[in-house]
Amino acid sequence: MDSRDIPGPSLADPGPAAPVSYVPTPSAAYRAHRKAAQLLDEPGPPRGAEQPSTPVPLPFAFGARVLMWKQDPSVAEIGTRKAFLPGIVLDGPRDARIVSGDPGIAPVSPNAFGDFITAPDTPQFDAVHTFAVVRQTLTMYQRALSKVGDDMPLPWQWNSSVDTAPLQVYPYGLPNTMNAFYSRSQCCLKFGDFVPSGQAERVFTCRSFDIVSHETGHAVLDGLKPAWLNADNPPQTGGLHEAFGDLTAIFLALSQLDQCEAIIAQTKARLHDKTFLADIAEQFGLALGASTGLRNADNDLTLTDAGSEVHALSQVFTGAVYDILADLFALERDPALLDDAMVLHDVGAYLRALVLRALVAAPDSAPTYADVVNQMLRLTAEDGKPVTYRNAIRNRFAVREVVESPVPPTEDHDARLVLEPGVRDRPGAVQDRRACCGTMNLAEYYDVAHVLDGEAQALARWCAEHGRTGPAAAPEPVADGWPQGESLRRR
Ligand SMILES: [Zn+2]
Repeated sequence: MDSRDIPGPSLADPGPAAPVSYVPTPSAAYRAHRKAAQLLDEPGPPRGAEQPSTPVPLPFAFGARVLMWKQDPSVAEIGTRKAFLPGIVLDGPRDARIVSGDPGIAPVSPNAFGDFITAPDTPQFDAVHTFAVVRQTLTMYQRALSKVGDDMPLPWQWNSSVDTAPLQVYPYGLPNTMNAFYSRSQCCLKFGDFVPSGQAERVFTCRSFDIVSHETGHAVLDGLKPAWLNADNPPQTGGLHEAFGDLTAIFLALSQLDQCEAIIAQTKARLHDKTFLADIAEQFGLALGASTGLRNADNDLTLTDAGSEVHALSQVFTGAVYDILADLFALERDPALLDDAMVLHDVGAYLRALVLRALVAAPDSAPTYADVVNQMLRLTAEDGKPVTYRNAIRNRFAVREVVESPVPPTEDHDARLVLEPGVRDRPGAVQDRRACCGTMNLAEYYDVAHVLDGEAQALARWCAEHGRTGPAAAPEPVADGWPQGESLRRR
């Protein structure tokens, strides 16, 4: 029998009494009455704690969506992405730690949804993209430490209990300049733009995911190890700073699942095949005629090859970490059980935390590559990782001449061993930073006041030797405009 044939109770006409075994179905009129009554129901009193099914109200989730380049405008294959930045983002954009404050760009306001969605190739897009990459980089490293129980907020170098000034970001801070830098004295990141010779289109370094995250890496590491940026450190210390910048770009890409998927598809899960992951700053590299980015993390350089040239030295460290990434990925890969992109994402997360923790644990001044490698070996053992992790770390750095392995590469690493350095910096070796990014070439990290003092003293000695003793009360030398002139005035 069709259910529509069953007579139901009606408000207007209750109808004949149904048999005792018969269960009535509400009529259309009764259902309409019930719906109307429910719409007018007052909400009941809150349920008490004695009712465990009470839903817990969710905390309000602050955050803004942004539109940004995934790599840079030249990596057309993956283009732009919409990303969600958890936390409060205000006009600028700005938050408590980062401020986009370029005088050449009007502050960008969020739309009605609180989002920063702007059109590519506009100053507003550049401000949002640059801010977003800096924010993602800082968040990535904060998470890396939080996961191991260290909730360090990763202060900027100048931060103290009385100075919580944010990092200023200037996407157009270096017009007509083929460079970018992090400046501690100006508390900022500045990005250059230029027209490559023979080309018509201007290249903006702020549009590069890699360059922005690289410079942010310098700022993060300077907050942790302020002495490392000074040019009077041994060459390997400079190499660590430059390598951390490049590795930051790689780790940030690996922290984003869609980039992991693109890398897996591009390489068929073979990380030593050509991939945008290993190519650092593609558009900048293309402008300079390099087809593998400004630098290539997938390289075979050794310490003997690099000498004291900090940029080459950095690639030795970056290259070894990239090899370890590929090794750990191969070890953890299990396509029958797990998605490759997910494994790559997780291996990247472990390795970035490992490198950051090893850098934190390394000496506060003049660290060598071997110092950091030994910390990586110690931490993987403490983390309970399989010995194959330590074998990969030892073998990859041994091939690069960073450490000496007392056993053949096929033998397991003894966790109690502290490895000896392989090729060391020559005693008194001076950093050659000419090929590095703008950060490493800023005068503020060179102790230029000391150099000028030396020149002034040599001049005074020459004058004394040649009878140019001058008036008895010579006026104090004035170092107008020189930021570190105080030490000159003491003479
Ligand atoms: Zn750099």
